[in-house]
Amino acid sequence: MKHSYLMTPGPSPLLPEVKAALGRDIIHHRTDEFREVLKEAHEGLKYLFQTKNPVLIFSSSGTGAMEAAVSNFLKKEDKALIVMGGKFGERWKEICESFGVETVPLNVEWGNAPISEDIEKLLDADSGIKAVYTTLCETSTATVYDIKSIAEVIRKKGLLCVVDAVSGLGQDVLKTDEWGVDVVVSGSQKGLMLPPGLAFLSFSKKAEKFLEESDLPKYYFDLKKASKSWEKNDTPFTPSVSLIFALRESLRVIREEGLETRWKDFGKMGRALRSALTSLGFEILSKSPSSSVTAALVKEIDTASIVRKMRKEYGISIAGGQGHLKGKIVRIAHMGYINPSDIVMCLSVLEKVLADSGVSIEKGVSLKAFQEVYYA
Ligand code: PMP
Repeated sequence: MKHSYLMTPGPSPLLPEVKAALGRDIIHHRTDEFREVLKEAHEGLKYLFQTKNPVLIFSSSGTGAMEAAVSNFLKKEDKALIVMGGKFGERWKEICESFGVETVPLNVEWGNAPISEDIEKLLDADSGIKAVYTTLCETSTATVYDIKSIAEVIRKKGLLCVVDAVSGLGQDVLKTDEWGVDVVVSGSQKGLMLPPGLAFLSFSKKAEKFLEESDLPKYYFDLKKASKSWEKNDTPFTPSVSLIFALRESLRVIREEGLETRWKDFGKMGRALRSALTSLGFEILSKSPSSSVTAALVKEIDTASIVRKMRKEYGISIAGGQGHLKGKIVRIAHMGYINPSDIVMCLSVLEKVLADSGVSIEKGVSLKAFQEVYYA
């Protein structure tokens, strides 16, 4: 029987403690027993998000929290600046426009990170902009954005800074309160080592003013309603009880290991993987590589066929490219429960698949390159 390995940038593998928690009997959610579980999860989320503010939990994929971050903080006539450097920047634009919010794009070449001075210039030129929507790790290009500098520019103008940390949270450094980020959204199926199905949203004191004034339609994702329940360690609607049991376990493990340790380790895994892929003739796509996922280009081969062969013949799921990068890149995740040994195994299979596709490879070259950096 073949093992299967999930090395995609979400969903990512489940933590063993998460799997055990998912097998527990269900309990009723309007009980002291469940409120205690929720309370621990709320505390753990504050640590992961690096905030003292509420982190609300929704039963949806991460996009649900993105939608909430638009519908709860803006008004009908508002304008929002969107950092567009990949697929998930585009998603912010689509959500804003579906609510009738006018968008001002900052177009960034895919693989590059935005420059905070460019954001400042656009904000200076248009006093109608109320909020900036951006991304911690742009998963489609495996690029980390300098949220600290971006948030500083936005804070100086008193505008709302909203960050999609769906894929980056837990691996790429994010210091929500220290950096003055107002709204952060994330999801369960990446750094948190859970199945898909939960979305999270934290918001600052400053964001409360925007929340008060917002007149866009919302019902399930009404943050005022959710916050009232949050204060009582409760949820407005039936929560995903099993996923919240599992969330508590994941957050406990993350806290025990410590975010600083995890940030360092995933950073090192990323550096080692980039070195390994370079040794195989790949070019690293991003000029500002993320600690959560790596994207690499290879000119002469259709990468979709590499991705397909790795999954079909060896049971290893990595990701290909999205949008205009389809068939041009491979993306390998180093997030959540993915370990250096998983990456070594993935590289050895990648070498075999490349060799089978006619690329001349010196056997083991990428394993050596990985180890030289990771175990240095
Ligand atoms: N933002 C980013 C950066 C992501 O990587 C993803 C998922 N790939 C999303 C948003 C969307 O999350 P979901 O698929 O959970 O709705």
